[in-house]
Amino acid sequence: MSTIIPEDQQRNYEVFRDCLATALLEKISEPEAKPRRRTKTKPKRKTLSSTPSHVNSASGGEDHGLNGEHPDLADPSIKSHVELKENSVPGDDLADFTDYIATETFACLPAELKTADYHDYMASPELQAQFILPLTGADMSAHLPNLDPDIPESLSAYGITHEQKQGINEFLAPVLTAFLISLSTPPPAPSTTRAEACEICGRDWINLSYHHLIPRFVHAKAVRRGWHRECDLQNVAWLCGACHHFVHRFAPHEELARRYYTVELLLAEDEVRRWADWVGRLRWKGR
Ligand SMILES: [Zn+2]
Ligand SMILES: [Zn+2]
Repeated sequence: MSTIIPEDQQRNYEVFRDCLATALLEKISEPEAKPRRRTKTKPKRKTLSSTPSHVNSASGGEDHGLNGEHPDLADPSIKSHVELKENSVPGDDLADFTDYIATETFACLPAELKTADYHDYMASPELQAQFILPLTGADMSAHLPNLDPDIPESLSAYGITHEQKQGINEFLAPVLTAFLISLSTPPPAPSTTRAEACEICGRDWINLSYHHLIPRFVHAKAVRRGWHRECDLQNVAWLCGACHHFVHRFAPHEELARRYYTVELLLAEDEVRRWADWVGRLRWKGR
């Protein structure tokens, strides 16, 4: 039952597959639910090289200033250590699996979405009105009425979805949302600074987005506290979706701004390099 994606849908299919692959990688690399002992790490402890350094500093660390604003710490998921599940080797299997889920799901999307480019999308208020972003799980059965039941079954068999916690609709809603956002994002202006390949994993055939190395969320603070000069605030790294998500799970905004404001600083961390090696091995069929 192999579905063939027609030539004129190939471009959108590849965007969709990237969005799906990002969500799959995120699930697979998600820490197992376990007691949150890591969050109890004592704030004042010195960073040991054997512990992921961000855990310590994210939970308190050296100098937070006096006003104690830690916007990022409210969300425990942000500082959760990114651990790769054992046996989760992305290679041909994961690429095939991603291709399969992406192809079958894409084939069920409303026809307009399979070929629309940015200009079509922006020129069609009907299309925009049909999908109010972000989509939720409840919207999905309307958008994907003919999804092959093998798809939810496969995702659940691989532990990607769980009927109780996160079903197929909840899993696919952010994937379709990311796809629609990329349809509604103007193509980037040609820029000499744009990298050819993801600056973390080196994959060069997937869509890249830019990451503010000093996250915008902390720009004002970064200048006020003298961490960075105004002119450095717009430094960006070009990253694939999976690495971009990884970076934001790796460290909260403030820590990214203070310790990881260049790609080199990020790649100096073992955890980042391990991720880069791991995700860099994920190749699509025929590449
Ligand atoms: Zn990457
Ligand atoms: Zn970013």
